[in-house]
Amino acid sequence: KDFRNNIKPNWCPGCGDFSVQASIQRAAANVGLQPEDLAIVSGIGCSGRISGYINSYGFHGIHGRSLPIAQGVKMANRELTVIASGGDGDGFAIGMGHTVHAIRRNIDITYIVMDNQIYGLTKGQTSPRSEMGFKTKSTPEGSIESAIGIMELAISAGASFVAQSFSSDLKELTSIIEQGIKHKGFSFINVFSPCVTFNKINTYEWFKQNIKKLDTIEGYDPTNRVQAVNTLMEYNGLVTGLIYQNKQKPSYEELVPGFREGALAKQDISLKKETFDHLLTEFM
Ligand code: SF4
Repeated sequence: KDFRNNIKPNWCPGCGDFSVQASIQRAAANVGLQPEDLAIVSGIGCSGRISGYINSYGFHGIHGRSLPIAQGVKMANRELTVIASGGDGDGFAIGMGHTVHAIRRNIDITYIVMDNQIYGLTKGQTSPRSEMGFKTKSTPEGSIESAIGIMELAISAGASFVAQSFSSDLKELTSIIEQGIKHKGFSFINVFSPCVTFNKINTYEWFKQNIKKLDTIEGYDPTNRVQAVNTLMEYNGLVTGLIYQNKQKPSYEELVPGFREGALAKQDISLKKETFDHLLTEFM
């Protein structure tokens, strides 16, 4: 069994999302998963199609809501490996509230964002990740809002795993997704995934010229939160690799009573008379 299915993606040739799809498939195989062990939930946007292109459980959700659905899947069956996915518009505009609270909740899922700094599906409008001055159909004079520093925000929200990669670097991206899947808690992975059709500024070439790989910084320590934030600010967020990891923070499911024992979907929920009587005595 592998994670490929026979559906041909209808992304534009050269879209960065192809590499994200391939990296998820490789990472899932490398960590020893079977298709029935994996659930992929996606939002709306070009990236949202990814849940239909991988041989696993898949749920193409609604705009900005991949995270609530993915958390529900994980709560129901903690034995599944759950990946939530979406674009920067999906996750950092309409879905931002879910993103911040899922990060601080630290439920054991992996969130992969295909960040192309634009809305691709609706044919090229400014997104929360577009730089100030970025000209699109929605901002013909240039965006007057600044881009969200999403990795710094994730760290300050209490993230236990923060990483970033680039669609052109399949090896690094696959390794980062593997690490995210293995991490016990919420793993947040932002991927520079160029939109070759509508974003003519943040191209593959532009990223290659501007990205700093963290493994080339001597002494970089991903357990050091202050160093992580300082490094992000120094390179304007354009770093790739494992930015920050805290293995000590307990995951949400470790802290929820009744959840530690196993998948809720497999627990006996029939209400026995003794249980009912006990509840009545306790709460009446
Ligand atoms: Fe990819 Fe952009 Fe085409 Fe959408 S419009 S499939 S993001 S290249």
